[in-house]
Amino acid sequence: MDAFEYISASHRVVFGSGTLRELPSMLQKINATSVLILCTPQQVSTGEEVQKLLGDAGVAIFTEATMHTPTHITEKALLVAKEKGVDGIVSVGGGSTVGLGKAMSIRTGLPHLCIPTTYAGSEMTPILGETENGRKVTRRDPKILPTAVLYDVDLFKTLPTGLTVYSGINAIAHAVEALYASNRNPIIELLAVEGVRVLCESLPVLQAEGQDSAEARQQALYGAWLCGMCLGSVDMALHHKLCHTLGGLFNLPHAETHVILLPHALSYNAPATPAAMAKLAAAIPGSEGDAVQGINRLYKKLGINISLGGLGMPEKGVDEACDIALANPYKNPRPLEREGIRELIRRAWAGEQAI
Ligand code: NAD
Repeated sequence: MDAFEYISASHRVVFGSGTLRELPSMLQKINATSVLILCTPQQVSTGEEVQKLLGDAGVAIFTEATMHTPTHITEKALLVAKEKGVDGIVSVGGGSTVGLGKAMSIRTGLPHLCIPTTYAGSEMTPILGETENGRKVTRRDPKILPTAVLYDVDLFKTLPTGLTVYSGINAIAHAVEALYASNRNPIIELLAVEGVRVLCESLPVLQAEGQDSAEARQQALYGAWLCGMCLGSVDMALHHKLCHTLGGLFNLPHAETHVILLPHALSYNAPATPAAMAKLAAAIPGSEGDAVQGINRLYKKLGINISLGGLGMPEKGVDEACDIALANPYKNPRPLEREGIRELIRRAWAGEQAI
């Protein structure tokens, strides 16, 4: 076994069905008595449900959480928090809303409780990406990690099927890159394999039956939690860096970009990561020992058929993205080679299957 370092993050996590009712007691545990609730314009009714549950402790709702955490929105929310004199933040939503909560808590020191409603996993990470003047800057700081996380599988009943599938694969991508991270460790490898396994089993059920299967909803959220821990614990490589570059350059949607690039990034790194690929293949049902083909088969089962071109990325963007991807080196199991990276982006742009 290789030598490793393992750092465990300390925050409270509650998981189950109907757990939202535990919110008041969880807030007491983090010493928050009057909170600002955050949500997106699309999830106002969920924000209101949370406020109703909290009574006087839910002082106000800020409903403008936005993808990629623009700093002008954070400034606006901070003004509301100051005006209302709150002593805590509750974010209810996907990665966009959690991001706003993180941006506020790192600036104010206020405790931040997350109630995730997608599988993106941001609630488990000390990472914050913020956008200012069209540029996204990401930083990592232990103080960014939310104070507490409340997972209630019932809140996923409203997650549309498309987003369920894309967001679930976004979670799988965290686990995939954790398996070949330069700073991986045996604990994270266990979480990654289990996360991939339960998501590969539950996503096809959710895709076929909608959110009716309570068991599949539980399994998917459990898997997403494990994958979120992978993302928060070890360094991500080619796949996440490319998603970041392409998403920023062409304003592409987060989860969909992850879905399109994952098999291609995996295929690029596979020759350099035989041990990780073997673990991954064993976790993907029907992979027959080949992780890339396992992901291809999973996509076929889920009816995934999207491309970067279909998301609006122009064809001439392939070279531009390739130049930027090669300009800032980072740790990746296989060295970044122009020809291979360009072909990876081209295939993802065209919507071709990974080989
Ligand atoms: P999102 O938060 O932008 O949500 C997408 C849409 O789905 C929104 O309109 C939202 O209101 C809606 N929605 C969410 N949950 C719903 C539900 N249960 N029912 C109905 N509608 C629902 O999407 P996302 O993919 O969760 O997050 C993407 C953002 O999170 C990106 O900005 C990304 O960079 C960030 N992110 C950050 C980290 C990190 O560690 N810092 C990790 C993952 C994602």
